[in-house]
Amino acid sequence: MFAEPVHACGLCPRLKAFRDTNAQAHPDWHNGPVNAFGSLDSRLLIVGLAPGLKGANLTGRPFTGDYAGDLLYQTLLGHGFAKGIYAKHRNDGLQLIDCRITNAVRCVPPENKPVGKETATCNDFLKAEIAAMPRLKAILSLGTLSHGAVLKALGLKQSAHKFGHESCHRTAPGIALFNSYHCSRYNTNTGRLTGQMFSQVFVKIQAFLSTE
Ligand code: URA
Repeated sequence: MFAEPVHACGLCPRLKAFRDTNAQAHPDWHNGPVNAFGSLDSRLLIVGLAPGLKGANLTGRPFTGDYAGDLLYQTLLGHGFAKGIYAKHRNDGLQLIDCRITNAVRCVPPENKPVGKETATCNDFLKAEIAAMPRLKAILSLGTLSHGAVLKALGLKQSAHKFGHESCHRTAPGIALFNSYHCSRYNTNTGRLTGQMFSQVFVKIQAFLSTE
């Protein structure tokens, strides 16, 4: 049985200390590991980096409340992977369709940068989560850290599957791993990722799922 990390998870001391500091300053924020959103029965799993300080770490739902979430949820709604209204809080009633969203690292890291050991420690949750998705057909990793974490969780060689925006890697039997640049404000401000480029990744995923 897949189990999310407990709210008081202390497996990564630096992340726990950061959460505790944030909890003192903002006791009304979530300030804990952020559980995945969406059903384990989904065919698509989207893997982000880690909760944003004033996004998922505040609201308690992946990508909810920050810029990256605005682009992600708008794109999911546009491609039929979500229904309802995204209103930047966890009780907005938004529903994911055949899609689940998780993070490579479940706690907000200082400077938005988890260290290698934290990513490795949290990988056990990602590995267990993937194993607990019986209908899983496609994984979308957002950015290189997420891509590396998914490969590790699947027990695959990093050197055999180089990250590339819009790439699709055939991994475990029947599972395709798609890549996109992360939908962060930085990437869209610098022009590395546009809304259209991001949308195109979902067009490919939809095409893949429709053939399965
Ligand atoms: N929020 C998340 O939950 N994950 C990210 O990667 C970015 C923002």
